[in-house]
Amino acid sequence: MITGSNAKLYRACRVQQGDSTVLHNFHDDISIPDKFVVTLELVPGRESSGRTIDTITGISKDASTDGRITAVSITDNPGGNPALSPDALGHEILNNGMDVIVHFTCRDTNRVGMESRALQLAHMGMKNILALTGDYSGKGFGGVGLPVFDFDSVILTSMLKDLNKRLIRSGHSSIFVTGCAVSPFKYTEAEAWVQYKKMERKIEAGASFAITQLGYDIDKYEELLQYNRDKNIDTPVLASLYLLDKRSARAMHAGRVPGVHVTDRLCKTVLREWEQHGGGMPQAIERTARLGVVLKGIGYKGIHLGGIHGGFEDVGKILDRMAVIEHNWQDYIEEFRENEPNRFYLYKQPTKQQTTATAVLPGKDTITVKLTENCHYLFLRAAHDLFFDKGASLAPMYKRISRSLEKNKASWLLKVFFEDPFKKLMLSCKSCGDCGIQHVGFLCPESGCPKHTRNGACGGSKDGFCEVNTDKLCVWVRAYRRMKQHGEAEKLTCAFVPPRLWELKGTSSWINFHLDRDHQKPAKPPARML
Ligand code: SF4
Repeated sequence: MITGSNAKLYRACRVQQGDSTVLHNFHDDISIPDKFVVTLELVPGRESSGRTIDTITGISKDASTDGRITAVSITDNPGGNPALSPDALGHEILNNGMDVIVHFTCRDTNRVGMESRALQLAHMGMKNILALTGDYSGKGFGGVGLPVFDFDSVILTSMLKDLNKRLIRSGHSSIFVTGCAVSPFKYTEAEAWVQYKKMERKIEAGASFAITQLGYDIDKYEELLQYNRDKNIDTPVLASLYLLDKRSARAMHAGRVPGVHVTDRLCKTVLREWEQHGGGMPQAIERTARLGVVLKGIGYKGIHLGGIHGGFEDVGKILDRMAVIEHNWQDYIEEFRENEPNRFYLYKQPTKQQTTATAVLPGKDTITVKLTENCHYLFLRAAHDLFFDKGASLAPMYKRISRSLEKNKASWLLKVFFEDPFKKLMLSCKSCGDCGIQHVGFLCPESGCPKHTRNGACGGSKDGFCEVNTDKLCVWVRAYRRMKQHGEAEKLTCAFVPPRLWELKGTSSWINFHLDRDHQKPAKPPARML
């Protein structure tokens, strides 16, 4: 821990935020060009008070005293299991002088609940939000909870941006600083592509910082930075780090933490360290510090440190060690080069002499699509172009037919005798009434994705397979492969897709499309043009 004059200096720099006085302001810190930002991720448990809560508040107080931590982030029902609300706990921590990033997932409440929660956070002066689609539902009272996923993280980010506009109009001084998660640790071409595209959509929707998923593969960390440079993305990115102990290494290696990647080799090393040394904490601290300085060296804006369960002391040791070794960061880079076979990287891996990846590789996965899958895509694409293109010459006729069916109360005939049987057979349609297959390679986002994502995959897939239905390919991986086969992958996740309209559930999506009722309806012109 920092003591003496440095600590006094940090304490003198406290700033007002809402009703609270905080040592660092997260938004200010990530906006300072040369500042390396350190944040902590803390995980509340299923209790309203007690040991875990005391530990979290204790870590936050110590972090505030130490002065090197910009903010703590509080998870939102991690793993989908009930835990103390990050809003309540975060507010207490903010009042104790430490800035807070609240994790905000789309799993547990619908859009009404989410907006209400956002208003509550604004009211409490809690403005830093990490917008996440969220892990799938876990167990609560009486069984597994209903997975809501009314929004995905892109739409949530967009909603917060919209709310910001309203808050500014109403004279509110403090508005949301929304961030997003990104996972470079995807080892198939399809997953990597969709992750990066989705990150672009999140940034367009209003994300002003990003935090990576956790992994120990420096080539993937570099890949993300290189991708951002290629796309002229200057959003600050914090890299996740974790103090790996035996339990967490086993869980992550076994895939029990969605999206996190711990190799066989790393897991065995961690287990050996803890067995041979009667407690592997010094090794865990050293590994974390080394990866921290490498990430700082290659250009990350900061680190987001998790796995802090005991107290702040371990964080202090990591940061102290980083200060000692940071000038020699290149000495450690090879320790985090995984060199596992059959993995997809967007860029060529650097040689030992290089420190950054440079050469662009075209997709090197062999994309093979079954004949049936290919025919399914071609048939639905052709049908879509023929019947559902608003710019096509036949579109006015379809509109007239739709109007006439509606007027004569015969649209249900179309739905029951044609649309439902066809779409159930071809797409396992759930009759949402607001069809989104055209955004997902002509696959159904309602039946094909347990989180109903329409703006790209969540970060939970592994080796191309779904986080929830682990024996099934992620619907976005299928979509990418089908489209890549025809040189159309660029169209996937290429634009913001608005939320589905629940009021259309059970109605004819065909008629809704032609009568401009669904999410694709033309935007209203601005008021002054009316
Ligand atoms: S997106 Fe909706 S209408 Fe389209 S196939 Fe899926 S459930 Fe049916």
